[in-house]
Amino acid sequence: MIKRAAQSVAGRTDAVVIGAGHSGLAMSRCLAARSINHVILERGEIANSWRHERWDSLRLLTPNWMSTLPGYDYVGDDPHGYMSMQEVIGFISGYAHASSAPVRTGTTVTSVELYQGCFRIVTDRGEWRCRAVVVASGAFNVLVVPAVSKAVPEKVTQLTPRHYRNPQQLEPGGVLVVGASATGVQLADEIRRARRPLRHCRRRCQGTGCPVATANRFGTRQDAGSECIGKNRRSTRGQTCRCP
Ligand SMILES: Cc1cc2nc3c(=O)[nH]c(=O)nc-3n(C[C@H](O)[C@H](O)[C@H](O)COP(=O)(O)OP(=O)(O)OC[C@H]3O[C@@H](n4cnc5c(N)ncnc54)[C@H](O)[C@@H]3O)c2cc1C
Repeated sequence: MIKRAAQSVAGRTDAVVIGAGHSGLAMSRCLAARSINHVILERGEIANSWRHERWDSLRLLTPNWMSTLPGYDYVGDDPHGYMSMQEVIGFISGYAHASSAPVRTGTTVTSVELYQGCFRIVTDRGEWRCRAVVVASGAFNVLVVPAVSKAVPEKVTQLTPRHYRNPQQLEPGGVLVVGASATGVQLADEIRRARRPLRHCRRRCQGTGCPVATANRFGTRQDAGSECIGKNRRSTRGQTCRCP
């Protein structure tokens, strides 16, 4: 039998909530309302995703009046406005403060397992034992990068929205934005406003295989399933791949 290296038991409680985004904090608030002892384990800071995984100019797509959490509503004077990132961070942090959420920041959960009739939560700061676990670690934590990106030459820098912050961060030259939903459209708009040569591609799904066009620099091949938005239609030296 392999013996697990002994870890200190950091604490015992009724429930452990993993993640201090708005889901984890809302759950904490509801647990507290029922007098259920609990702790929130957060690998970074409160509202970590908004602090570290969004671009600088991002504003919520949802209007302020829709920003409500259990026992906590938007109370500003601009109900039809859209929060900036700093405002979102302030809103979520304010909620944590107002509800005295028991957050342990800087604590990464590495595993959860059943152990002697309760849960053993292993973190990089010791173990927790509890009777219930709420996983509120986020809905968008795993990047989905299409396989076609592997075919892009190494000299072309590729960024995902998680690592994109602003146009100044981009190397000189043309920019291709792939994807034209909320994120792609916002980034394309910002990059174009920064006067960078831009191509913007989106995919139209056509039943089974969806053709995707990708590009090296400005070279973009247009095929049946892709549509390019941008004023400069240039070379067709791009590579064309198919979705798996
Ligand atoms: C680009 C973008 C724009 C968006 N715009 C909007 C919008 O306009 N309006 C809207 O309503 N929603 C928007 N969303 C969706 C919104 O971000 C999510 O719905 C929301 O963040 C989910 O909240 P959450 O608490 O479930 O997860 P998160 O906010 O992601 O919180 C999860 C927390 O868990 C922590 N965590 C993860 N793993 C561990 C671990 N192993 N141990 C400890 N802690 C861990 C993370 O650090 C994080 O703090 C947007 C999302 C993206 C990506």
